Amino acid sequence: MSFFSTRGGACVTASQAVLWGLAKDGGLYVPSMFPQLPQDKIAAFCQMSYQQVAERVLRCFLEDYTISEIEEAVTAAYAAPAFDDPAIAPLQKLEGGIHVLELFHGPTLAFKDIALKLLPYLVKLAAEKNDEHREVSILVATSGDTGKAALEGFKDVPGTSCTVYYPENGVSDMQRLQMVTTEGANTHVIGVRGNFDDAQTGVKRLFSDPAFYEKMDGMGKLPSSANSINFGRLVPQVVYYFTAYAQLVSSGAVRMGQPVNFVVPTGNFGDILAGYYAKRMGLPVGKLICASNRNNVLSDFFTDGVYYTHRTFFTTMSPSMDILISSNLERLLYESADRDGRLVKSWMELLKDCGSFSIGAQRLSELQKTFAAGFADDQMTADEIRRVYELTGYLMDPHTAVASHVLAEYRESTGDHTTAVIIATASPYKFASDVLASLLGPALSEGLSPFDCADRLHAHTGVPIPRQISELKTLPVRHTAVCDKGDMEAALLHELGQA
Ligand SMILES: *Cc1c(COP(=O)(O)O)cnc(C)c1O
Repeated sequence: MSFFSTRGGACVTASQAVLWGLAKDGGLYVPSMFPQLPQDKIAAFCQMSYQQVAERVLRCFLEDYTISEIEEAVTAAYAAPAFDDPAIAPLQKLEGGIHVLELFHGPTLAFKDIALKLLPYLVKLAAEKNDEHREVSILVATSGDTGKAALEGFKDVPGTSCTVYYPENGVSDMQRLQMVTTEGANTHVIGVRGNFDDAQTGVKRLFSDPAFYEKMDGMGKLPSSANSINFGRLVPQVVYYFTAYAQLVSSGAVRMGQPVNFVVPTGNFGDILAGYYAKRMGLPVGKLICASNRNNVLSDFFTDGVYYTHRTFFTTMSPSMDILISSNLERLLYESADRDGRLVKSWMELLKDCGSFSIGAQRLSELQKTFAAGFADDQMTADEIRRVYELTGYLMDPHTAVASHVLAEYRESTGDHTTAVIIATASPYKFASDVLASLLGPALSEGLSPFDCADRLHAHTGVPIPRQISELKTLPVRHTAVCDKGDMEAALLHELGQA
């Protein structure tokens, strides 16, 4: 199997797609076909560990990696104690044929760990396969979750380093503490005096500066990116759709072959796209339900076929979904366009020049056979956290609650009560003050530190506080670098020179 660009060009191997991230024409790498997993193979997953299923699924796409390379990468990525549940992605049962797939048992308590724990191994192998002997130097600009997950993933992986830029005053206390206490000899964290856009623009500028590449080359380093457009971040996410289904079959919740709906809290469209890939590979998926917060550009798209970004950007209590340009949608558009790269390219040009494009009624109704969509604003999200807790005793983080709300609305409006899986993307303790306020009213969390909110939440619900949260209180701060937004390159070279 080879990999094409969504904009028409390119034919590269899997390892090249992983190493290079983005195609030269600006498109995203997509597999030349969807490998098929027949039902007897999926049924066999019921007897396998998460790691064994991961190996079977990854093998389908990563043809120029050997089976033992994939095996070793998966074993190293998902070992204890980084993941605190042996199932890696355990499934919890709620009421009415609704299940929750918990993807927050990794080191940073958000679902990005599932991909970012594995990606470094795939990148390192990709470098070897393509005779790349320089150190792969990952640069990340983050508004919170991705930075810490990338640091934990690349920490102490030989042949790599990871540098994260965060807006000095633009992340939550918990998120900043998570980053600046990161261990490992190859991790660097730099605060930028500016906002997230300044950090992001600064990193993009470095990636497009030949003089910077030359300087890095002189130090034996190849700059690279770990953001969610890399195919190496997508393929590990296909796995948990299969393991979720296998767990449902094992527990008797569904019979092998019976369709299951998945509802996914969506920002950059990576997570739900992985579900679409699983369906195309043969997993019995009914509907994929796309859940947005108030930045509901995607739920509008699935309703009228128009992608429209000239709208107000809202800051919400589900910040990881605060996004208006959803990069991975381009991979779905490629399928919707019957793999016509020129058509995708023209849509992307319209988006850039006019802020919108339309796929037309025919293509929309085709997509609607698979996708449904809805959204929840902050009030609906808070109400859903409380409703679910009072009804079932299950505590959701705000992102997961957005999905839960959208599922409830979907069931109500369609009458489709197919067994459903809510993808739970973060631990409620990562957003302790908002979750506490949702349960007991905003007055209660006002003026409290995030640790106090976590303690109150624990006292009220009995849900254990993950050690990753409590240990933050005592871990030493290891990263103190701060720079002006014009000095990001100098700060990086200083950090790397010291290492
Ligand atoms: C990144 C993230 C999302 C959105 O995932 P996408 O793949 O970007 O759609 C949802 N919830 C949490 C907690 C996240 O960190």
